[in-house]
Amino acid sequence: MKQALVFDIGGTKIAAAIVRSNGEIVTTFKTSTHSELGPEALIHELIRIGKELTKNLSIDVIGISSAGPLDPIKGHLINPTNLKTDGKKNWGLVDLVTPIKDAFQKPTLLENDAAAAVIGELWMGDLGSAQSILSITLGTGVGIGAIVEGKLQRCRQGFHPEVSHIPIHALEKLAPCGCGNFGCIEAFLSGVNFPQYYALKTGKQPFSGKEFLEKAIQKDDYALNGFIHYSELMAFAINSLAVIYSPEVIVFSGSFSEAFPFFADNTKRYLEHLLKQRRAGLDFLPTLKLSKIKDHAGLLGVARMAFHLPQRH
Ligand SMILES: [Zn+2]
Repeated sequence: MKQALVFDIGGTKIAAAIVRSNGEIVTTFKTSTHSELGPEALIHELIRIGKELTKNLSIDVIGISSAGPLDPIKGHLINPTNLKTDGKKNWGLVDLVTPIKDAFQKPTLLENDAAAAVIGELWMGDLGSAQSILSITLGTGVGIGAIVEGKLQRCRQGFHPEVSHIPIHALEKLAPCGCGNFGCIEAFLSGVNFPQYYALKTGKQPFSGKEFLEKAIQKDDYALNGFIHYSELMAFAINSLAVIYSPEVIVFSGSFSEAFPFFADNTKRYLEHLLKQRRAGLDFLPTLKLSKIKDHAGLLGVARMAFHLPQRH
C-alpha cells in the first residue's frame, strides 16, 4: 500500500500526517503557523516536520494543501491572503514544491486547501451517495471547494475559484477582507473576521472566535444574537453559491465549524426563504452537515490527489 506525507498549511496552524492509500491516517502532527517569519522559515519548518514524521516510515508521494491563492501546476503560492510577514507584508511568489521535492526526492503536489478539503470529503467524508458537494472550511479564512457530479470545479489554468471573495455586501466598510476589498464572504464569516465585524457593528469589545463560541455555549445573549446575524449572512453566501453550483450537500469543517449548532437551523430557515423559487425541478436547497472528518479533510484530500499524480483531477 502506498503512503503519502501530507501537509495542511492554514493561517493559524500547520498540520501534517502520513496517510495510506486506503485513507488510513498513520500519524499526525500539529503546530502553529509563523507566517510573520516569512516563506523561507515556513519551508524549513515543513522539511523539519517531514523528516521527523518519515524517520521510521517510508513514503511514495508528498501532498501540500495550503491557504491560497496558489498555482497548483507550477507549485507556487501567490501572495496568500492569510500568510503575510508581520501580518501585512505580502509574500509575493513562493515556489513551495521545488525545495520540498528536493529535500525528500518524491513527487510533490501543491493544492489549494479548499480543493483538497472537498476531495477529502468526497473520498472519506460521510456524505452518502452525494456527487455534488460543497465544502466550507471556517477558520482564519473561509475555504470553499466544489465538486459537481463527481468533478472538482476549477477555473482558468487549473486555479481554484476564489469564491469566498464573492461579496455579500460590497459596501460594508466594517468588514474589510484580507484580499483588500470589503464585504466578501470571508470578510464576514471566518472565525477571525466575524467576531471583529460584529464588535464594530454593535460597538462592543471584540472577542476571538474561540471566546465568541464559548460565550454562545454559555448562552450569552450577545453571542447568541451574533449567531442569528451570522446565520443570515451565511444564508446570503450559500444562496450565491447554490445558484452557481447547486450542491446536494454542504459540509462544514474548520475550527469555527464548532459553531454549527448555533447557525445551522437559522441558516436553513433563511435559505428556504431565499431559494423558495428554486425548489421545482432541480431543487437548489442543499442539506447542511457538519464534517465527520473535520480537521483531516484537507490532509486526506491532498493525499488522495497526490496518490493520483501525475494524472490531475
Ligand atoms: Zn476578499
